[in-house]
Amino acid sequence: MRPRDDDSSLAERAPRDHKLASAIADCGFYEFKRQLSYKCDWYGSKLVIADRFYPSSQLCSHCGQKQKMPLHKRTYECSNCGFTADRDFNAAVNLENYVRDLA
Ligand SMILES: [Zn+2]
Repeated sequence: MRPRDDDSSLAERAPRDHKLASAIADCGFYEFKRQLSYKCDWYGSKLVIADRFYPSSQLCSHCGQKQKMPLHKRTYECSNCGFTADRDFNAAVNLENYVRDLA
């Protein structure tokens, strides 16, 4: 008996089914967010979640210039002020500033 397409395991389908892979990633993020909320409540901390469209990777953390940052580009090099930093570090500083600006 030949298995139907929808009988294949999620692990087999995910690499070729982008919507499924995205849904699985969302579940992972949902659980991560749930645990963060729980821990913040436990310790009396405030959890701040940036807007999903906040361009943390595209903003210069030094001058605020916004520029395109394709995923393969791992170093942020600002075309306005010349600031250079690791992509993830630059995004982390922008998110830190995002929280600070809310206060
Ligand atoms: Zn800059």
